[in-house]
Amino acid sequence: MDIFATMEYGPAPEAVTPALDWLKQHEPFGLLINNQWVKPASGQYIDSINPATGKPLTQVAAANSGDVDAAVAAARTAFESWGKTPGHIRARYMYAIARHIQKHSRLLAVLEALDNGKSIRETRDLDIPLVARHFYYHAGWAQLKSTELPGYEPVGVVGQIIPWNFPLLMLAWKIAPALAMGNTVVLKPARYTSLTALKFAEIMQEVGLPPGVVNILTGEASQVGEALVRHSDVNKIAFTGSTDVGRSIRRTTAGSGKKLSLELGGKSPFIVFDDADLDSVVEGVVDAIWFNQGQVCCAGSRLLVQEDIADRLLGKLRARMEKLRLGNPLDKAVDMGAIVSPGQLKEIERLVAQGVEEGAEMWQPSWACPTGGYFFPPTLFTNVSPATTIAQVEIFGPVLVSMTFRTPAEAVALANNTRYGLAASVWSENINLALDVAPKIKAGSVWINCTNMFDASSGFGGYRESGFGREGGKEGLYEYVKPIWEAQQTTHQPDEVQLILPDEHEKHENGYRTVETPNDFVLPPIDRTPKLFIKGKQVRPDSGYSLDVYDPEHHVVGQVGEGNRKDIRNAVEATHTASGWASGTTHNRAQILYYIAENLAIRAEEFARRIVQQTGRANADAANEVQTAISRLFSYAAWTDKYEGTVHRPPLRGVVLAMKEPIGVIGIACPEEYPLLGFISLVAPAIAMGNTVVVIPSQQSPLSATDCYQVFETSDLPDGVVNIVTGDTDALSQVLTDHDDVDAMWYFGSAEGSKRVELTSAGNMKRTWVNYGHARHWLDAVQGEGEEFLRESTQVKNIWVPYGE
Ligand code: NAD
Ligand code: MN
Repeated sequence: MDIFATMEYGPAPEAVTPALDWLKQHEPFGLLINNQWVKPASGQYIDSINPATGKPLTQVAAANSGDVDAAVAAARTAFESWGKTPGHIRARYMYAIARHIQKHSRLLAVLEALDNGKSIRETRDLDIPLVARHFYYHAGWAQLKSTELPGYEPVGVVGQIIPWNFPLLMLAWKIAPALAMGNTVVLKPARYTSLTALKFAEIMQEVGLPPGVVNILTGEASQVGEALVRHSDVNKIAFTGSTDVGRSIRRTTAGSGKKLSLELGGKSPFIVFDDADLDSVVEGVVDAIWFNQGQVCCAGSRLLVQEDIADRLLGKLRARMEKLRLGNPLDKAVDMGAIVSPGQLKEIERLVAQGVEEGAEMWQPSWACPTGGYFFPPTLFTNVSPATTIAQVEIFGPVLVSMTFRTPAEAVALANNTRYGLAASVWSENINLALDVAPKIKAGSVWINCTNMFDASSGFGGYRESGFGREGGKEGLYEYVKPIWEAQQTTHQPDEVQLILPDEHEKHENGYRTVETPNDFVLPPIDRTPKLFIKGKQVRPDSGYSLDVYDPEHHVVGQVGEGNRKDIRNAVEATHTASGWASGTTHNRAQILYYIAENLAIRAEEFARRIVQQTGRANADAANEVQTAISRLFSYAAWTDKYEGTVHRPPLRGVVLAMKEPIGVIGIACPEEYPLLGFISLVAPAIAMGNTVVVIPSQQSPLSATDCYQVFETSDLPDGVVNIVTGDTDALSQVLTDHDDVDAMWYFGSAEGSKRVELTSAGNMKRTWVNYGHARHWLDAVQGEGEEFLRESTQVKNIWVPYGE
């Protein structure tokens, strides 16, 4: 009768004995190399702690660089056969893994809750089912790889480094696509949470996955993580973790040619309009920021509320927070568990104290946290100003900061006022408003009237300092493959150059070539010195200097402006005037690309002559380059309204709209060879997909690009879409890569220059696409155009749209 009166929850503990028995049987754990448990070379072990009690659960091995060498060698050997294993066979193994995850789901759920401190309710209902789903989904891609990704091969040995917040789920996000595409793996779990990865190792033994295909090394970041990142026989690093570590990995791997994907931090907005269903919103906030104790990269940690409903919503929220149940993670009626480690807890406490010091108002429920473990109560900050630390820095704990806005435009501006761009939630009962706002938010996932939804079919990943690359979806597969032609590229030489030697009488004493008039007068050409092309106009370079352009015999054939840092800044600024380019219709963009092709065709002979003049190549060869450039413009005009998004059907009532969005402003450094075709091959896909560009043409032969000014001017290309700065490729590339308003940098130059671009990009974590000094056969349709270029010009944004009354 008492219980009926109070409606208090009783204890609902999950049985823990099977998990503890399993731990006891294996203690101390070894490393998994070649499907064998081996002792760590160091002979050392580290305690694995239960954060809800602060007590050790077991001991796991502390690997060092010697173990990394052994694991990479095992993966390399395994790759010889695994990389060639038919997709159907790989699919069978992955299907078996998925089945075994389900068979052991209870043990995995309990282990995860014990080791990480998150509630059993979450591990049982979310983490583990999603892990199985990920392997099923990717078993399908293994099966379909040869028909759906023809022309691509696996990258080889992949080093994977994952964080502690979703230990087994992050493992699945990494391992499943890697195996599906035929790679082999060395994986390092996070130091605090290795146990489910070790159970996963046992599952791989059970299903008989060939030795060496997946190797698992537990231990410290400084011992294992860094050695893996530096290892010369690792072809790719896939990393999920903090932005700082991601930045250091970008620097370490710069110029090495290692493929890299980074899933980093976030400070995601949770936007509530005044017509939202407030009770749903409250439950949404609970799932956004108190799910997994807020230790979620895409946590909705910034609550942005329309001013007129702020008080009402915050009142409801405080009432709900008062009822949240925090405690033993293994209790099935508990909402929130423990923070993963004492260090993490201290960091949360530090940032919360700073928030109070900065003048924000802190609110916590009246109940007290259990003692003994690492607990922190759900926390709400109001009266927060957007520039303060707690509004900008990822706290990675159960701490929500709330701010208000008045208009949708203000909401978007506030939402985008962050270095990150991982996810966002938008709450409104007005579908017009929600679908209008979603594309304007710079984030990889946007959830409408829902939050923290994940599915293997719908890629996940960030913009800006949240990293680059996607996990899940078809787009995620490209992180684990490379074009087959790249393997042959080292032997490729640019096409044989046939020099045409200028006749002596064609030359004027100042080195200019001239034409002879019928009267035998030497008629000097009308001087035409192209300037820079910024905001649709020719502008003088800031330096006031010009650079000579030479032919292969070192005769001057013209001059161009010498661009500098200031010109690049002006060019980037100019792209803002073309902000309508991305939102305009694809039909309109296609028309303009056709028009550029048409106007180039009218002047084809002149452009061919210009190529001959600068490069000394044969007439026919130059004419071919021009015609190929025209054809390429047609290709991208064609793709403009055909490279579209997808509609996913994840397990939910609703759809996910996977939109291919332009990246924004792309900096492009063109290759030296093929002065026209190289330029067109890069600019055309970028602008076709709605980007604006700042282009550095071929340094040796810039005149083919500067001759395009008039073509652009007569083709209705809006001002600021294409901006051209001539000059020193490497120096200008550096400035572009450094620029915070440039969203991606493409560089086709030297190995050294490629390395510098990758290094510099670590400053603001922009996407890069570089050639490491390798040649590309620009005339070839496989290497010089197509899907790879379109993919580099876009990023996928997934907009989740649930429906139903
Ligand atoms: P972390 O960066 O400290 O560690 C992540 C992993 O990298 C761990 O395995 C760690 O041992 C290893 N590591 C650390 N230093 C390294 C180095 N110098 N070289 C190589 N490896 C190194 O991050 P964390 O505290 O474990 O995780 C929390 C962070 O992860 C948060 O910032 C969160 O936003 C982010 N995260 C992002 C996603 C995503 O998908 N974008 C998902 C989960 C977590
Ligand atoms: Mn632990």
